[in-house]
Amino acid sequence: MPLFDNHGRPINYLRLAVTDRCNLRCFYCMPAEGISYVPKKELLSYEEMERLVRILAEMGISKIRITGGEPFVRRNLVDFLNRLHKVPGIEEVHITTNGVLTTPYVDELKAMGIASVNLSLDTFDRQRFKEITRRDEFERVLDCFHALLAHNIPTKINAVVMEGKNTQDIIPLTELTQQYPVSVRFIEEMPFNGEGSHYPVLVWTHQKILEVLKQHYPAIEKIADAPASTSYNYQIPGHQGTVGIIAAFSRTFCGTCNRIRLTAQGTLKTCLYDQGVLDIKNIVRAGATDTEIRKVFETTFQNRAKDGFEAEQRRRSQSVSESMSTIGG
Ligand code: SAM
Ligand code: SF4
Repeated sequence: MPLFDNHGRPINYLRLAVTDRCNLRCFYCMPAEGISYVPKKELLSYEEMERLVRILAEMGISKIRITGGEPFVRRNLVDFLNRLHKVPGIEEVHITTNGVLTTPYVDELKAMGIASVNLSLDTFDRQRFKEITRRDEFERVLDCFHALLAHNIPTKINAVVMEGKNTQDIIPLTELTQQYPVSVRFIEEMPFNGEGSHYPVLVWTHQKILEVLKQHYPAIEKIADAPASTSYNYQIPGHQGTVGIIAAFSRTFCGTCNRIRLTAQGTLKTCLYDQGVLDIKNIVRAGATDTEIRKVFETTFQNRAKDGFEAEQRRRSQSVSESMSTIGG
């Protein structure tokens, strides 16, 4: 049975953050000293997550993306991924990773039938990588990129575009699509960095990123976007891969939003920009039955903000500043 929200939008996609811990300190996601992690017992256990996934799958969720923090920092992740693949109704399991610890698991990801891997990589320059992530791990991420391609795992590169940090990488990253069948996606920077917005006004909007691409590749062509896609997608004639732009700050895609989020602390978000609309962990730990959990999900899905601007307005505190590592992107 398809699941719909109060605006008639189908909901079939869950983004599940399995940890808030991370081995990088990306400029756009966390302060240099990091954020204070929640105590381990405040994180959902794998058993709790699997139960919630099973209930949501019965309600109509068929696609899951595992995210974090860095998912591979959590122990026994691969076992959990294997278990998720067996949940009735779950058709696709995807993962977003920074690639630092991922390469040794690529064989197993392939064997379990992972639907795709999104690799976060904002530059192909080792020094700039170090400046942006505040860690010197570029080589390991590069190894992961090549391992994913060698295993024919559908791969997307996520690059956040940041004024003064990596705008010179837009073309080199796009050039990857010539040689490799990857989708490179440029993301508008959002203020989810643990501190608040880096800029009075966002300069590197989706329009500006597209201008740069059009200037360098006058023959660039718009291609069809998948249903409920958050990216506008393009292809350069002759290139194997595609290039996408995600208007994450401008929020142009809310009208078809099909996704919900579960943070590592067990808070349900029905919009990236809301402050968390349901503390499902407490409900689970108070002993709720599956039927009770299902009911509270149903009620929450019927009170969804119509877009990211309304969700932001509904916050108790208006400013968005929490770290993306607690949300999962
Ligand atoms: N650690 C994993 C990784 O980096 O791929 C998964 C979690 S990370 C929070 C998920 C995605 O969110 C990454 O692709 C990252 O680039 C993106 N992200 C984090 N902070 C962001 C921000 N302030 N604006 C836009 N995207 C952001
Ligand atoms: Fe870690 Fe991912 Fe955030 Fe970078 S974007 S600090 S890799 S959670």
